[in-house]
Amino acid sequence: EAKSAGKGKIRFFDPEMQEAVAERLRLEEDIIRGMEAREFCVYFQPQVDHDKGIIGAEALVRWRHPQRGVLAPGAFIRVADEAGLMNRIDSIVLQRACEQIASWSRLPAFADFTVSINVSAAQLYQPGFIDDVLEVIKLTGADPARIKLELTESMLLNDMPKAIERMRILKCHGIRFAIDDFGTGYSSLHYLQQLPLDQLKIDQSFVRVLPEDENSLSIIQAITAMARSLKLEVIAEGVENQAQRDLLHANGCSLYQGYLFSRPEPAEVIERMMGAEERA
Ligand code: C2E
Ligand code: MG
Ligand code: MG
Ligand code: MG
Repeated sequence: EAKSAGKGKIRFFDPEMQEAVAERLRLEEDIIRGMEAREFCVYFQPQVDHDKGIIGAEALVRWRHPQRGVLAPGAFIRVADEAGLMNRIDSIVLQRACEQIASWSRLPAFADFTVSINVSAAQLYQPGFIDDVLEVIKLTGADPARIKLELTESMLLNDMPKAIERMRILKCHGIRFAIDDFGTGYSSLHYLQQLPLDQLKIDQSFVRVLPEDENSLSIIQAITAMARSLKLEVIAEGVENQAQRDLLHANGCSLYQGYLFSRPEPAEVIERMMGAEERA
């Protein structure tokens, strides 16, 4: 019997799978090490208004890895999430982003500048979420009116009543909300109407295939119409060329984020872009 049980396990320990499991564990341990060594930091990608220029930025986590260079979330976010580490990464990002908001609010070039921060499902539904956010705001002195939290449709659908309740409370403090990657999930006017939202963020998969793809253009037109009737701002992400920008503008979207304007960059680079390098 022992032998057959052993046999049954053989499949489980095939070398490839074993290697994948070991790799994952190494990454998990490395993430923990990296957090303790303060290697996680925040880059900012400008958000551009068609007429006014840069009006804000999205905070995006980066891992300055001592051997592997600057890593984007694609290299670690899945493992971090599955290992239950996203909460810790998110609080690092929230803290850093709020420190930056407070510091930028002292510079005239950054008047009205807002910062969008990604929220993970783990974070939104965590019991201390609201207190944590309010505490960071208090400690950093960040103006809540400059903060926009990005949620995704699928996150909201996990537990809509709870999500709405939490959004409402934070909204009372002046924080704004955007739906990220909009158009990729379940979206009806009915449920959008119930959410205390400020912005829809058109997913880059629709933008990337412009100007050629007519289906994507139709979806973008539907989203901008929806945004207009709900009185929400609409921003497009992944804008890489002029043709895309022009088409978006012609179809009712005048806020953009994408490589056409800038890649995500460290705060100092954003300051140079804003012409605010002369700091007090
Ligand atoms: P997202 O929130 O939808 O962020 C937009 C992503 O698109 C960013 O990738 C950005 O660098 C990339 N991007 C922007 N413009 C262009 C463009 O013109 N072309 C192309 N090809 N890509 C563009 P990034 O920084 O790798 O982040 C990927 C995702 O990881 C984010 O998607 C977000 O879902 C997640 N993420 C990033 N930072 C955080 C964070 O601090 N917390 C949480 N929970 N998630 C984060
Ligand atoms: Mg985002
Ligand atoms: Mg997005
Ligand atoms: Mg995304």
